[in-house]
Amino acid sequence: MTVKAALRFVTHRITRHPDSEPTFTARCLKPDCGWSVAPTSDGERADVDCMEHTGRTGHAIFARTCETVAVVVRDK
Ligand SMILES: [Zn+2]
Repeated sequence: MTVKAALRFVTHRITRHPDSEPTFTARCLKPDCGWSVAPTSDGERADVDCMEHTGRTGHAIFARTCETVAVVVRDK
């Protein structure tokens, strides 16, 4: 039995989905703290929340995430 593969090279591109907004989150990495920023589309607000947390507690290290919804489309 012979296996044949039809290969087509098609160019694609990936971009942010137009109906989505980035979502930002952050959490304090100080052991046993547990503080985190609720998911928000306002990245500046998330940063300010982290700085305020540092001001109140002295905890200064955070894991930050920015999640986007992407869509891959075929180039024409
Ligand atoms: Zn903390």
